[in-house]
Amino acid sequence: MRHAVERHEIVVHYQPIVNITVGSATQVEALVRWHRADELIPPLDFIPAAESSGLINTLGQAILELACSQVRDWLAGDEARSVAVNVSAVQLREPDFARDILTILAATGVDPRQLIIEVTESACLGSPRRVIEQLSHMRERGIRVALDDFGTGYSTLARLRELPVDIIKVDKSFIDEVKTGRENLPILNSIIDLGHTLGLHVTVEGVETATQARQLRRLGSDSMQGFYFGRPSPVEFLADMEWQATNAYRQLTPASH
Ligand code: C2E
Ligand code: CA
Ligand code: CA
Repeated sequence: MRHAVERHEIVVHYQPIVNITVGSATQVEALVRWHRADELIPPLDFIPAAESSGLINTLGQAILELACSQVRDWLAGDEARSVAVNVSAVQLREPDFARDILTILAATGVDPRQLIIEVTESACLGSPRRVIEQLSHMRERGIRVALDDFGTGYSTLARLRELPVDIIKVDKSFIDEVKTGRENLPILNSIIDLGHTLGLHVTVEGVETATQARQLRRLGSDSMQGFYFGRPSPVEFLADMEWQATNAYRQLTPASH
């Protein structure tokens, strides 16, 4: 894996995120893959090893550089657009992490206000002070922070107010419950309300059906992401993806109940 970066085997795919208020796909999430021989290896098969070996720091920088240079023109086309990049807990513990990110943004010409970094709840729990300082430093420069897989841990609920985050990404498991559209969704409803009470933007991920998307619109979610709107795809398909995701959103008919 050490040579994967030099050999240009690291590729990034992008998945559209639809902003409900705007009514279109204004964001993409960068998701890494390892193109080894003829295989496209998914991140969960190599990120954990990269984290335990420390290689994730180099790999994470390469991913950010690649993502920024690939979507720069798309971002430049509309200041409302943004790209979200996943960052692991190990990277956040690096003292120079925030500085390195800002250097990459400057080098690739991406406005910090168009970058979102996605961190998991557990990353914020690991070594709180240093992590929180890094996140705060980045936010001062305009970078937004999203709390990924929200709702899967249980300890940050009380601490959410203190964490320097702008967005919560509600884990797929919450929307998975929606099958017929007639379900009561007290937990999901409360999470969305809690997010709004704290002034946060709420994105729900793993939306696979029109029924689920309609429910989220009804519950007041701010953004949605999932296979219903589009699968992660190479950068060549960025414009198509944006169009398809926006179209999928506009085609949602009003809920029948
Ligand atoms: P994640 O950040 O929660 O990313 C969402 C994952 O759910 C992605 O899997 C995406 O393809 C998948 N997904 C999106 N919509 C749907 C849907 O509607 N249904 C279903 N079943 N799945 C959906 P992927 O690309 O395999 O990534 C898995 C995880 O690997 C990510 O979870 C993230 O934690 C990690 N990861 C991905 N890229 C990076 C990266 O560049 N750096 C780091 N540190 N971690 C990454
Ligand atoms: Ca993510
Ligand atoms: Ca997630």
